[in-house]
Amino acid sequence: MRVGDGRDGDGRVGDGRVGGLAAVGRGFRPECREPFRGRVLAIRRPAPRDSGPSVRRTGSGAAAAVIEPAIGAPAAAASLPIMAMTPDEFYDHARAAADGELRLPLARMTGWEISPFEPEGLRVSPLRPPVLPEPPRHGEDPADCGMCRDRDEGLWFTDHWRLGQVTGVGVPLALMLYPRDHYDLAELPDELAAEMGVLTTHVVRQVQALPHVSRAHVYRLGDGAAHLHLWFYARPAGQGQLLGSWLPVWDDLLPEYPAEVARADAEAVADALVASYGGRRTAAA
Ligand SMILES: [Zn+2]
Repeated sequence: MRVGDGRDGDGRVGDGRVGGLAAVGRGFRPECREPFRGRVLAIRRPAPRDSGPSVRRTGSGAAAAVIEPAIGAPAAAASLPIMAMTPDEFYDHARAAADGELRLPLARMTGWEISPFEPEGLRVSPLRPPVLPEPPRHGEDPADCGMCRDRDEGLWFTDHWRLGQVTGVGVPLALMLYPRDHYDLAELPDELAAEMGVLTTHVVRQVQALPHVSRAHVYRLGDGAAHLHLWFYARPAGQGQLLGSWLPVWDDLLPEYPAEVARADAEAVADALVASYGGRRTAAA
């Protein structure tokens, strides 16, 4: 798997992609999942002491979430301030649901009828304890960032953004949008964030205008590389198992889509972007 602009990709990002997308199953649960016994109603500041028994003040005065218990839940659970688990507490919490080999039971994703894996014979990997500090991502130091080095590589450009093709994939087309300067999502200036929103809409629109593409998925993970990069996956029409959060896994299983067809589609999207949004097909203005 190569990741980049259809030329010299950034192999480390590719590694991050496979691990990253595969690792986010719970974050990408389908709508059928019901993650809490109670419903999280709102995140709000603690109410004054005399406002009633349903909200407890926190010592710090920080915002607290209030959980409404599920019907039939014990009255003692009627109101709980949410406290973030430490990494060790989170691990202990998860481990309590695992077996003697620290394997969690198969869950809803594998029971979903579009899962690429049949539950029989499948088992969950042992859950590993947290490792802190986390290892650095590729390009934490912009001086070593391959995406900064490749700021002039791609199919489509503005002064702030570039769009590249991810080659060697199983879906009909995968594209990646990068800021040309080194930002991660949380650090993106508002002006660029606004551009990203409009651009994301235009890329999705143009990918979905391709023949035999039903939908363009958009992902931002950020676990493999520090330089912001948005994924656009074209979901092939009619392939009803390739839905939602399973698409990146199916993509990894599928044979490579014909490269010359994918390239022609990528260039069609780039040309359409010039027409609909602006920008250019060359790095230099
Ligand atoms: Zn960078």
